[in-house]
Amino acid sequence: MDIRLTPEDLELQERAREFTERVLIPLERECEEHDGLSEESFATAKQAVLDTGFNAINHVERDGGRGFDVLQQIVVEEQWGRATGALWDIPWRPSIPLAKATADQKERYLLPACRGERRDAYAITEEHAGSDPSMVRTTARRDGDAWVLDGTKWHVTSGDVADFFLVHAHVDADPAKATVFLVDKDLPGVRLVRTPKYSHTFVFEHPIFAFEGVRVGLDAVLGEVGAGYELTKDWFVEERIMIGARTVGAATRALDLSLDFAKERVQFGGPIVGFQAVEFMLADMAAQIMAAKSMLYRVGWQAARGGADGKELHALASAVKLVCSETAGRVADAAVQIHGGRGYMREQPVERLWRELRVDRIWEGTSEIQRMVIGNELRKRGHEAYTGWPS
Ligand SMILES: Cc1cc2nc3c(=O)[nH]c(=O)nc-3n(C[C@H](O)[C@H](O)[C@H](O)COP(=O)(O)OP(=O)(O)OC[C@H]3O[C@@H](n4cnc5c(N)ncnc54)[C@H](O)[C@@H]3O)c2cc1C
Repeated sequence: MDIRLTPEDLELQERAREFTERVLIPLERECEEHDGLSEESFATAKQAVLDTGFNAINHVERDGGRGFDVLQQIVVEEQWGRATGALWDIPWRPSIPLAKATADQKERYLLPACRGERRDAYAITEEHAGSDPSMVRTTARRDGDAWVLDGTKWHVTSGDVADFFLVHAHVDADPAKATVFLVDKDLPGVRLVRTPKYSHTFVFEHPIFAFEGVRVGLDAVLGEVGAGYELTKDWFVEERIMIGARTVGAATRALDLSLDFAKERVQFGGPIVGFQAVEFMLADMAAQIMAAKSMLYRVGWQAARGGADGKELHALASAVKLVCSETAGRVADAAVQIHGGRGYMREQPVERLWRELRVDRIWEGTSEIQRMVIGNELRKRGHEAYTGWPS
């Protein structure tokens, strides 16, 4: 068994680490203090993404992406995840279901999105539909040569900077006909309802948008009518694994900062790292990160190079997201404790990590929903996917 990263993977890791240190981390204070970035800082960071070749790392080269496999994406996103303020969201990754677009749709949406000229946001959640997307009330009805969309979407991440949406709607209000529509933001009937504030500081916003009699062409359907849930599932699998990568990166930074602080901070005549209560917290942090990261990289390898099929990956991605996000939450909490009062100051990265990692147990399916997916796999196919080993 050879679990070493290849020289190409290591080069990518170094490039991502350097990008995070040089481009993202210097923007953290501005992002926190101004609740986002100035136009100038954002433009500079965007240019750096292109210069470093980190645009659309999740799409194939013929669609304008960088063609990184899932393991390479993990290697990169782990480094980006070290940055606070969700600055990791600056390097755009057009939603993966866009890979299923027609040639014409790719021309209009995916290719410019890979170049950074357009940006998408994925709108599934509603006031009455969260964990259970079958409760979506956004409808699409056919009217001549158009579809007409009506509904309201919540928590639309990066909806403020997006110029088109992937809208998960039910054709004729029928959950069996869940369908994803490509909707330009500037169409008549698309209305920004409000932009709520959240616990974390996030470089972009998560607005609520209403779609009021929005007319789109018949060619606005992504995939097919009724294929919406499958497309959204593709998105979940990718995002859940990448949440695993970013939360492992964030947790590792929290450990780095805590270890440095514990060695320097002197109380009762010696550095606090010398107190076993503190040392044991650090030990638990390191061991838990090791466990989560081992699992993340194994599943990344299975996805990229081990031939895991879609069903298996869906089951594994839930375990990765569950374990990595819960681990990172515990690690960040310990990091705040080790930093004492400083750990509660927003100017400290550990405070921001602690606040920002909370959502990773909620979005893209809560921890309870990940356990449901795992439970479903156990009932249907047993525990081999989790307790066995790829051969
Ligand atoms: C900052 C942020 C950004 C987001 N970005 C997006 C986005 O870009 N696009 C998008 O579509 N959505 C987005 N979301 C929505 C997110 O995915 C949902 O909030 C999440 O899936 C949970 O849905 P809910 O909030 O409606 O909670 P609910 O589904 O109402 O759940 C409430 C509680 O009940 C539990 N629960 C529900 N069902 C079960 C069950 N069967 N068994 C056990 N427990 C259960 C949940 O785990 C949770 O603890 C975002 C959310 C946040 C906070």
